[in-house]
Amino acid sequence: MNMNLFKPLETNTEKKKTIPSDIPSEHVKCLIIGSGPAGYTAAIYAARANLKPMLVKGIQPGGQLTTTTEVENYPGYPDGITGPKMMEDLEKQAARFGTDIRWGIATAVDFSQTPYKVLIDEKQVVESDTVIIATGATARYLGLESEEKYRGSGVSACATCDGFFYRGMDVAVVGGGDTACEEALYLAGMCRKVYLIVRKNFLRASRIMQQRVFDAPNIEVLFERNTKEIKGNQVVEEALLVRRMGQPDESEEVIKIDGFFLAIGHTPNSDIFKPFIETDETGYITTIPGTPRTNVPGVFACGDVQDKVYRQAVTAAGSGCQAALEAERYLAQR
Ligand code: FAD
Ligand code: NAP
Repeated sequence: MNMNLFKPLETNTEKKKTIPSDIPSEHVKCLIIGSGPAGYTAAIYAARANLKPMLVKGIQPGGQLTTTTEVENYPGYPDGITGPKMMEDLEKQAARFGTDIRWGIATAVDFSQTPYKVLIDEKQVVESDTVIIATGATARYLGLESEEKYRGSGVSACATCDGFFYRGMDVAVVGGGDTACEEALYLAGMCRKVYLIVRKNFLRASRIMQQRVFDAPNIEVLFERNTKEIKGNQVVEEALLVRRMGQPDESEEVIKIDGFFLAIGHTPNSDIFKPFIETDETGYITTIPGTPRTNVPGVFACGDVQDKVYRQAVTAAGSGCQAALEAERYLAQR
């Protein structure tokens, strides 16, 4: 296994949380942490390989797709499917092959020796020969009350997922990084007009992405704008922006839009693993390219927690499959 990619563990300075030794524990061959498309797909494969996996669902059972309505780009559903229904089906499929699916949140891990230890809800320890991390990532939102109100009714954090519903309409994308530019360009291909709302007076995105945005005839970049409120009757109809916030010439303006897309970054749910698992500077778990292998043998990562580029249900499911196959091989070779 190519371990050159990884720094030595001792360079990782995150504080390790001690797992108490006096609380109940049980042993499994394969523990899967997370119940999104990555976790359930790993469970289906691990269960069919007779690894008798245990899966802990976490704080968001079913993962990010439970926060959306229609999923139209997952293969196998010609008429689309709602996110919650799709995740219900995935759970059933994982359970059908014998996955031990539990409620619970992993709150600390000890990957210093095998069997690896994972503390669940601060009250139970699971010892496992292999661990599959499928804890996903959380899209960042601005924190506006109105943003929460229209989530799913015009507010979205995924243009690839929801852009299709805004064909021929006017939309806004918030952010000035590569993701925001990519989302704005994607939306520009199907929407009438795209506003790119950037809080600074420059884009942080790579030069090439910036150029593409500036070249797109239907993207208007609104520099030095912050969003104050989103308004509408049932669905998003306009956004109230503040221009040059905090400056003497600060002013307000309204843009008429049908969709409001956040592209201000994601936070991978990797904090509890950091004392043992290598991550990049933004917290994404580092895996050997093309594999779900982490720096700890027998600990695998799949889905959005290790993928800052694609972040799709189908790619998460694909990497969940890889993680389970790797876990099976790891156990067979021990
Ligand atoms: P997630 O779905 O994020 O699941 C992570 C899981 O880990 C959750 O179950 C959570 O409870 C669990 N977890 C986290 N921390 C812990 C812990 N400490 N202990 C135990 N469990 C934990 N993609 C598409 O392909 N098509 C779409 O149409 C689409 N629409 C989307 C709409 C929205 C609004 C959003 C936000 C995303 C959308 N996506 C879509 C992206 C897609 O949802 C993600 O790429 C996918 O869900 C990632 O799967 P995952 O299994 O890696 O993680
Ligand atoms: P990012 O580079 O961190 O950019 C986030 C953007 O959101 C920044 O412009 C930031 O503004 C803005 N922002 C953050 N909080 C905000 C707030 N509260 N209000 C308004 N704006 C806010 O994140 P990213 O674009 O998701 O990219 C993450 C990484 O993935 C980067 O390394 C990127 O290069 C990479 N990536 C690459 C590609 C590609 O190569 N095609 C595509 C996508 C992502 P400030 O600039 O003012 O901080």
